[in-house]
Amino acid sequence: MPISELKLSKELIRRPSVTPKDAGAINLLAKNLRSLGFKCKIINFKNIKNLYAKLGRSSPNFCYAGHTDVVPPGNMNDWSVNPFKPTVKNNKLIGRGANDMKASIACFVAAVSRFKTKNKKFKGSISLLITGDEEGIAINGTKRVVEYLKRKKEKIDFCLVGEPTNQNKLGEMMKIGRRGSITGYLAVYGTQGHVAYPHDANNPAPVITKILNQIENLKLDKGTKNFQPSNLEIVKMNIENTADNVIPAEATATFNIRFNNKHSSSSLKRKFNNIFRKTCKKSKCFFKISYMVSGEAFITVPNKTTKMIQNTIKKITKIKPKLSTTGGTSDARFIRKIAPCIEFGLVGKTMHKIDESVPVSDLKKLTNIYLNILENYFK
Ligand SMILES: [Zn+2]
Repeated sequence: MPISELKLSKELIRRPSVTPKDAGAINLLAKNLRSLGFKCKIINFKNIKNLYAKLGRSSPNFCYAGHTDVVPPGNMNDWSVNPFKPTVKNNKLIGRGANDMKASIACFVAAVSRFKTKNKKFKGSISLLITGDEEGIAINGTKRVVEYLKRKKEKIDFCLVGEPTNQNKLGEMMKIGRRGSITGYLAVYGTQGHVAYPHDANNPAPVITKILNQIENLKLDKGTKNFQPSNLEIVKMNIENTADNVIPAEATATFNIRFNNKHSSSSLKRKFNNIFRKTCKKSKCFFKISYMVSGEAFITVPNKTTKMIQNTIKKITKIKPKLSTTGGTSDARFIRKIAPCIEFGLVGKTMHKIDESVPVSDLKKLTNIYLNILENYFK
């Protein structure tokens, strides 16, 4: 009996795996995969459960990647159903993880179970790289599993990440890369003093304002064929000061840049540090800067497999998916270090929202797409 995508989606949603909690989700998945003949390795890093499951030993190895953790439900009373008691209403499955992304995982498992019945002896292997740490800080999830697989010399030939990629309709978009993301934490130091005696003080507030003005007006690039222009947003500004007659000694600001592959995190750091250095020197201030890089920009150059996937999606949905690099970061930023990656999953319209839901007909279609991708890949 093939595995039902709807039934497995519901079972996964019933495990309240609000990040970083696992709540039995990984074991449930491993149990289902073992029943299909997968060898399952549960890899724990700190409090995080991860799973690498593999069917077959020979190459090529086609991998599906995803996460079983979900974001918190928010106010439970705002939901029309209990977010962890999945319910089908008006042909929609409602529950936390219905599209980001427990249901997508269920569709892939259902696709493999059908693929196996039809192709008892296929040449190659199918694997799943599943983490319980994607929605949180994502330190002990895919990043570390990728390091582990590298150490074990495990080869993945192609990876499909099942994150929701469509905005309105199943089939409209697949992702072939992602922008990079870097956050800068800037502090500018002057000298504290009395507002009536500014010559005895040095105010860092106008200095940081000048800096922010410069970086905000910087045209980083015009975008490329595959990427939108890089963009900087100032997200925090702060001066701790409890008195109105004191020139502060310190001013801080935080900014985030989503950048395309015309830049790297280090080229951006150099560019920005230069601006900080020059402006602070002029004003006799000091600065401190630290950065957090969430990922570099990357693109999977379209090849035979990405074309095949695009055609398969088109055949089933009657829509030709756009190849896109938009949106936030995903775990593809780690996996692309060991394998070419693309992303295709459900419609993300309701992800992270109250009453997250997915049409049951989309689940059937996605399973069919994944099944056809497997058949074409191993043909
Ligand atoms: Zn997700």
